Amino acid sequence: MSRRLSAIFFLTIFLSFAATSFAQTASVPSPKSVLGFTPGDDRTIAGWSQITDYFERLDRASDRVLVQTLGQSTLKRPMIVAFISARENILALAKYKEIQQQLADPRKITQNLQRDRLLANGKVVVAISCSIHSTEIVASQMSMQLAYELATAQDAETREILQNTILLLIPSPNPDGVDIVANWYRKTLNTPYEGREPPELYHHYAGHDDNRDWFMLNLKETQLITRLLWHDWFPQIVYDVHQQGSNGSRFFIPPFYDPPNPNISPLLLRQVGLIGHKVAADLQAAGFKGVLTNALYDTWWHGGFRTAPYFHNSIGILSEAASARLMSPATVTTEQLARSSTRGMRNATESTTNFPDPWPAGEWRPRDIMSMELISSRSILEMASKFRGEYLRNFYELGRANVEAAGKGEPQAYLIPAGQARDEAVAKLIGTLIDQGVEVYRLDRELHAVLTTPVLRRTNPSAEKLGNYRRLPLLTSPAMPEVPLGSYIIFLAQPQRSNILALFEPQIYPNRLTALGEAERPYDVAGWTLPLQMGVEAPAVIAIKEQGNERKLTLLKDVNEVRADLALALQKGDESPIKNPVKQPVRVGIYKGATSNMDEGWTRYIFDTFNVPYTSVHDVEVRQGALNSKFDALIFTSQPATQIVNGNAPGTLPQEYTGGITETGVKNLKEFVTNGGMLICFDNACDMAIKEFNLPLKNTLDGVRSSEFYCPGSIVALDVDNKHPIASMLPATLPAYFINSSAFAATSDANVRVIARYAKDNVLLSGWLLGEDKLRGQIALAEVGVGKGRVVLFGFRPQHRGQAWATLPLIWNALSTAVNNTSED
Ligand SMILES: [Zn+2]
Repeated sequence: MSRRLSAIFFLTIFLSFAATSFAQTASVPSPKSVLGFTPGDDRTIAGWSQITDYFERLDRASDRVLVQTLGQSTLKRPMIVAFISARENILALAKYKEIQQQLADPRKITQNLQRDRLLANGKVVVAISCSIHSTEIVASQMSMQLAYELATAQDAETREILQNTILLLIPSPNPDGVDIVANWYRKTLNTPYEGREPPELYHHYAGHDDNRDWFMLNLKETQLITRLLWHDWFPQIVYDVHQQGSNGSRFFIPPFYDPPNPNISPLLLRQVGLIGHKVAADLQAAGFKGVLTNALYDTWWHGGFRTAPYFHNSIGILSEAASARLMSPATVTTEQLARSSTRGMRNATESTTNFPDPWPAGEWRPRDIMSMELISSRSILEMASKFRGEYLRNFYELGRANVEAAGKGEPQAYLIPAGQARDEAVAKLIGTLIDQGVEVYRLDRELHAVLTTPVLRRTNPSAEKLGNYRRLPLLTSPAMPEVPLGSYIIFLAQPQRSNILALFEPQIYPNRLTALGEAERPYDVAGWTLPLQMGVEAPAVIAIKEQGNERKLTLLKDVNEVRADLALALQKGDESPIKNPVKQPVRVGIYKGATSNMDEGWTRYIFDTFNVPYTSVHDVEVRQGALNSKFDALIFTSQPATQIVNGNAPGTLPQEYTGGITETGVKNLKEFVTNGGMLICFDNACDMAIKEFNLPLKNTLDGVRSSEFYCPGSIVALDVDNKHPIASMLPATLPAYFINSSAFAATSDANVRVIARYAKDNVLLSGWLLGEDKLRGQIALAEVGVGKGRVVLFGFRPQHRGQAWATLPLIWNALSTAVNNTSED
């Protein structure tokens, strides 16, 4: 070939290549061409329909993108996921899903050859989820840019990522919240309130607690995504993109802080750390400052989007970018940075090994957040791609190790015996396990087994103050009694062994104190043992007596089988099938102030789930009075008294969102009770009733330092007077949820009827309790007569996060006695 010819030849090849790639990218719309702005621009925001519209266009235009609708959110918005990968992978998604399902359950793989073939052919599945917390809004906007870049890039590195990975991009697992924030942001733009957070819960029931639901699966959103991730796709890596406060580090990425959850495999913690350091290094290389690792966020608590993966043998990554003011820029001063301190970071101006390059103060924009999140996402995809084989092998091996480790020095199984008289709770517990992919069997023939129920005991009497506990086995059946037919059994020899242990064992949070002897706050709660919270007996099975071929078990496919076994109504459509447990018609009002309150949201969730009718009562109605004409019972969920009475301060929000029930409202509440109404208060709200009604009780934990008493989310034991109608039919000992809650002492006996006390001994059932002596024997639940009516004071949270089903009957019983009640005193 002559030089000229060859030049033309190469030019032709180049032009045709450029033309194809140009044609392909030109037809894929950029976010800007659709939205009219580039995501992340100051003071712009895309709502949910704009986001879903953009992804639909991407699906149509790009053969690298496939969008799937998962179902509907709580407020009926479409939930979507975008699969992004190379064209040939997108065409073969069914094949890759099948590979993932086999790798997720090593019991399905019987031959080494079969395993090797799966490992050679599989792709690393990465899930990225944006803005589950809706005020942490930037990631939802970033999702469009990330998808666009992956759909259009032609460089070799991106192509390699697309070849080796399948990305499941969730633009938001809380679409309702994206709109709540977008509508509010637009409404307040160019007003003095621009950039303020909306005063309402950004999830209809859960608000910020929408990320506290990943083992309980109360919410539609967690149910749909749990199905996507842990029934269908089993991602090897899950990246949950968040934002934190404005004044600290610019970006947190793992490794996490202590303590680790003992049920998380060390290999997973190492892999989490490796990815975190890669992200941190890439951000540093790109010139970003203020990246923090090994601080604040820990892996102890089970229940977040990024913690659920550990219990499915996958890697969970969290990032927390510093927030701007929603989509408006913020200004951060050096003084603010210097005052910002947390576990693992003395302040945000000091250079340390885990924070080597502090950010200088200044303007902080949504664009900064978005750029860091794009780099972080890219960095994780690169790792997934470059170490494809290792990620698949580790995932498979962790599942295998779980199956093989079972029974060695630990129970063989957990049992849910038949005949507990807590049928709805049993059905919910088993349904929740099945929905997470845990195998649950029904006993179709009686078994003989050795059972034990582990309990927590102080290590020695003087350890009471230090909160040191250990687990003691409580043998209940050395004689191998018969386990009745119709009981349910959950064997540990399954890939989710660590999940079962983490949900069924009592937690013993390590006793962690600061240098000053104060309690070091855990990131979230310290204890959550699910059967305990739900009041369901679930002993561990130490041994099963095998009699020939007698074991007859049925693997349950879904919760409706359990409901059928228990002769409960079956699930119909979207409505909860549970029968209203309140024994008489009662007009219930649940107070809903202008200040968003998650405890109020969870209360509505529980009432809706149990089909107990109620009305939300706003400040204005309490101020108007004549409450007896509308209600028999009013519930004030946990909220500080000042918030209830004063509401949001004037000037902090538009006027219609300021002010509380005021002193007039307090007077009307008093009148309501005096005339025969029932006022029910949960936890913090009790302070309002005690103070304003001058009740003969005091909160004995008021003002106690955390070096003396601390209980940040634990399950504690109550001694219950079940002769009282409010505790009727309940066991004499009941587990209750205590989260920096209240304990009372009577200042006079007049009109106080104690229904439950914190146990006289061995109060802690699961979690962390420092200074047990401060809680022992104090009043946990009381009823006080006022005029013709009553005030019912719950010191704890009887419906905490929709998880504390053990104590729900106390609410239903109280309401069952609310009508025509005349105080006996
Ligand atoms: Zn968050």
